[in-house]
Amino acid sequence: MSAAAKATATISRAVKGSRHWPLKSPALTKIPNNEPIQISPDHDLPMGQWSSDQIRSAVTNNVMLTWAPGKARHNTPIITHGQGVYVYDDHGRQFMDWTSQAVCSNLGYDLPESVLNATTQQMKDLPFLYGGLGIAEVRARLSQLIGEIMPGDLQGMVFPSSGSEANEAAITCARRYTGKFKVMNWYRGYHGGTTNSLQATGDFRRWFGGDTVPGFIKVPNPFPLFWGYDGEDESERTEIALNMLEEQILNEGPDTIALIQFESIVGAGGVLVPPEGYMQGVRALCDKYHILMQCDEVMVGFGRTGKLFGFQHYDGVLPDIITAAKGISSAAIPLSMMACRKHIMDYFEDKPLGWGSTYAGHPVALACAYENVKYLLKNDVLGHVQRLSPKFEDTMKLVAENHPCIKQYRSVGLFGCFDVHAPDGSNPQLQHEGVSDAFAIYKKAYTDNGLIGLLRPPHLHVAPPLSITEDELMEGFERQDKALYALDEALGF
Ligand code: PLP
Repeated sequence: MSAAAKATATISRAVKGSRHWPLKSPALTKIPNNEPIQISPDHDLPMGQWSSDQIRSAVTNNVMLTWAPGKARHNTPIITHGQGVYVYDDHGRQFMDWTSQAVCSNLGYDLPESVLNATTQQMKDLPFLYGGLGIAEVRARLSQLIGEIMPGDLQGMVFPSSGSEANEAAITCARRYTGKFKVMNWYRGYHGGTTNSLQATGDFRRWFGGDTVPGFIKVPNPFPLFWGYDGEDESERTEIALNMLEEQILNEGPDTIALIQFESIVGAGGVLVPPEGYMQGVRALCDKYHILMQCDEVMVGFGRTGKLFGFQHYDGVLPDIITAAKGISSAAIPLSMMACRKHIMDYFEDKPLGWGSTYAGHPVALACAYENVKYLLKNDVLGHVQRLSPKFEDTMKLVAENHPCIKQYRSVGLFGCFDVHAPDGSNPQLQHEGVSDAFAIYKKAYTDNGLIGLLRPPHLHVAPPLSITEDELMEGFERQDKALYALDEALGF
């Protein structure tokens, strides 16, 4: 018998039944000796003391990127510190953070003392408590606080570490609650990089995962990229989109669909607000067919749009589940949240939710978020966003009018997006095509003019820290306006 055949036979014996246990384990032949592990003396230098060359060398040898090709790391700036809405690189250059990094550094770079103190104190008192072993006071407090500010009976919550995980929790929760399996999501939406959340994603990033996870149905976004509802009014557009959705539900089988999971306002896909009445229609379809409705608030939650949550822009719509992350801690420490309505919370009284992670409910992250959310409320950050929002929108309009490469813009609160087109009106490039020469030229101009931020052609996002002042906002738009001349020219306008 060949070695491969022997291995197969062994595996199938092991799989068939336990009567063959215990299986013999292979002997370990290389047991490390007890010599001390050597590390570079460079690690003895205090933080902030490595030269740019030392940093670049470690980046070349040991750092990997995630969504961008690895070689991009050689040109990624070395950022030394931040202050206000600015970050600084190793050459002392200042950049305004024009997209709150990944739309998450919502308070910029001077965190409130209360956040710093509470986080440090929690590290001293109880740096970790596994959520299944005990309840830290801060977990009770943050849960109650969020319960108090959430509309309706969205009152049961868990606190994972990332937006992706929160969406994983929501999917498992919905499947177990309904006993159904399928999940419906929009094209153009993003829900995360873990197995289910990536499959739920409606943009090119899903392809990296192989697009092989069953049970996820894509719904055309009511704000399509490649065609328009030209000629029809908003209500007709809503009706068509809802009719399409209902037809999909009926053809998929309502008894197989656990969850409709959407971003309340699509973020990375281009600040897409669904047409008037659409969200109310989705809520009605969910009720009609006993499907749970989840709003993914990971990008817009905690104030980005001038409301605490994006779904609050839609009158009368209460989702069964929401997820949030980023703004909950202003990104200072990883934390996310899945909140569900009382009837769902009650359902899990005598059975497990079925999702968890070691760091869910991490007390230090909760302490950071607890003070962060209290800061947002006590300092009326929502009011600040609402007050700046008209100026923000007016300036987007001016910038759009000043540059022929801008086809249109959208804005809500302090969240905006310009759509770029080519001189013949086509999309000059799509998100999955990376960064073309024209956008590379724009990116350089953007950096040279002192901005740092996400670039997702053909969309140009604007999402500065919510703590930005009006003067700083105007300065940011001026910088972007200057950079856009380079894009006009590179695209041939
Ligand atoms: N959902 C939305 C709407 C997001 O924008 C993101 C990240 O940008 C995620 C989920 C995933 O969050 P995370 O990157 O923290 O896993």
